[in-house]
Amino acid sequence: MSFDYDYFVIGAGSGGVRSSRIAAQLGAKVAVAEESFMGGTCVNVGCVPKKLLVYASHFMEEFHMASGYGWNVDDISLDWSKLIKNKDQEIARLNKIYQGILDRAGVEVFPERAVVTGPNSVKCGDKEFTAKYILVATGGRPTIPTFSGSEHVISSNEMFYLEELPKRFLVVGGGYIGVEFAGIMNGLGSKTTLSYRRDLFLRGFDDSMRTFIRDEMTKKEIDLKFNSNVSSIVKTDDGLEVSFEEGGKEVFDQVLYATGRHPYVQGLGLETAGVELDEKGAVKVDAKFKTSCPSIYAVGDVIDRVQLTPVALAEGMFVAHDLFGNGFREVDYELIPTAIFSQPEMATVGLTETKAREKFGDDVKVYDGSFRPMKLVLTDSEERTMVKMIVRKSTDEVLGIHMGGLYSGEIIQGMAVALKAGAKKEDFDRTIGIHPTSAEEFVTMRD
Ligand code: NDP
Repeated sequence: MSFDYDYFVIGAGSGGVRSSRIAAQLGAKVAVAEESFMGGTCVNVGCVPKKLLVYASHFMEEFHMASGYGWNVDDISLDWSKLIKNKDQEIARLNKIYQGILDRAGVEVFPERAVVTGPNSVKCGDKEFTAKYILVATGGRPTIPTFSGSEHVISSNEMFYLEELPKRFLVVGGGYIGVEFAGIMNGLGSKTTLSYRRDLFLRGFDDSMRTFIRDEMTKKEIDLKFNSNVSSIVKTDDGLEVSFEEGGKEVFDQVLYATGRHPYVQGLGLETAGVELDEKGAVKVDAKFKTSCPSIYAVGDVIDRVQLTPVALAEGMFVAHDLFGNGFREVDYELIPTAIFSQPEMATVGLTETKAREKFGDDVKVYDGSFRPMKLVLTDSEERTMVKMIVRKSTDEVLGIHMGGLYSGEIIQGMAVALKAGAKKEDFDRTIGIHPTSAEEFVTMRD
C-alpha cells in the first residue's frame, strides 16, 4: 500500500521537530502539522522565554551588587514593554530558525491543527492524508483547578505576554514553574508571594536543597506560604482579592497557577485509531514509543514520562532512527540532570539522600557544605551556595550530586557526565580543581 507520507508528525515542538528532521534526513517523506507557533512550549512559552526573564530579573540584584565593586548605579528602572518586545523578537527569530530547519530537511509543514482519523490517516484542515507512521508529539498544557474565582487566574502561558509588571504577584504551586516565576517576578520588582499546599516545596528534590532554597528565597523577601491553599478569588476595584483556606485575605494584581501540566490529547481523534491512554490521560507507549496502535507513536510531554525538553528530543530522535534508520541507542532515563532556575538556581543529578538511604541503608555517606560565593564577597548580598554529594560507602560510587547557588545548572551538566561514566568519589578527589570557582568544591570535599 502506498501512502502520502512515510511519517506524519503532529506537533512541531521539541520532540516533533527533532523527530521529523531526522526522519527526513534518513530519507523518509515527512510532514509535520503545528496549530500554533513553531518550536512548541519550550521555545514559545517555556524554557527559552523563561530563561530570558530569569536573566532580566537578575539585573536588579546585580546592579545593587555592582555598587560594592565601585560602580555608580543610580537611577535604575525596568522598561517592561521593551523587555517583552525584545523577548518576542528573539522568539520570532527562533520560530523562523525552526521553520528553516524543517524546510532544509525537506519536511512539509502544515501550519494547522491535525487530527488522527484512523491508524494511517490524518486530517489537516480540510485535507486528509495517509501516512505509514504517525507521531503524536502534541506536548502538554497547563492544568488549573476549578474553584470560585479561578477564571481570574492565569497560567504560565500568559505570564510571557503580560501588558505590565504586576505590583503584587501571587503564584500557586511549589514545582519548577512556581518556584522559577516567584524568583523572576521578585527580581523584576513585584511584591511576590508563593503559596504551596504542603509544608515544603520542590517535592522530590533533595530535602536539604529544598530547605536551602526556601531559606535563600526568604532572604530575598519572597513571602513563602506553606500549608496554604487558595479557597476563592474575587475581582475588586483594587485587584484580585484572594482568600486562603488557612485564613486571611490578600489582594494581588496577578495570580499565576503553576499547578502542573497535562498531556494535550483533547480532540486529537486518538480513539479512532484505538490509541490507549493511561489513567492520567497520557498516551501509553511501549519501550519503542509505539502506542497500542502499531502505526502510531508518541513522544514528549504527551506520554508524561519526564516533562523535559532534552528528554523529548532524545525520544523523538530514537523513533526516527528506529523507523527509518538502522536503529539507535535506547533512551536512557537513568541519571537525567535537571535544573530549577530558581534564585539562586538549583541543579541535581542522581539520587537524593533520602532515596539513597532507602536503597542502600547505612551504606551511604554524605558530603555537604555551604559557603559564600566569591562573586558576592564585596557586596551586601547574603546569598550562599550549597553543594552536596551522596556516595555509596562500600563501592565509593557517587550516587547523587546536588547544588544550589550561582551557576549550578552549568556545573551540574558536567557532573552528570562524570556520574554517567561511573565516577567514584576517589575520581573526584584525584581531580585538580579550577581555582577560584564554586565548582572546585566538588573535588575538595573531604570528611
Ligand atoms: P510540577 O509538577 O513541577 O509542580 C506542580 C506544583 O503544583 C506542585 O507543587 C504541586 O503540589 C502543585 N499542585 C498540583 N495540583 C495542585 C492543586 N490542585 N492545588 C494546589 N497546588 C497544586 O509542575 P509545574 O507546573 O511547575 O511544571 C510542569 C513541568 O514542566 C515540570 O514538572 C517540569 O518537568 C517542566 N518544567 C521544567 C523546567 C526546567 O527544566 N527548569 C521549568 C519549568 C517546567 P504537590 O507537590 O503537592 O504535588
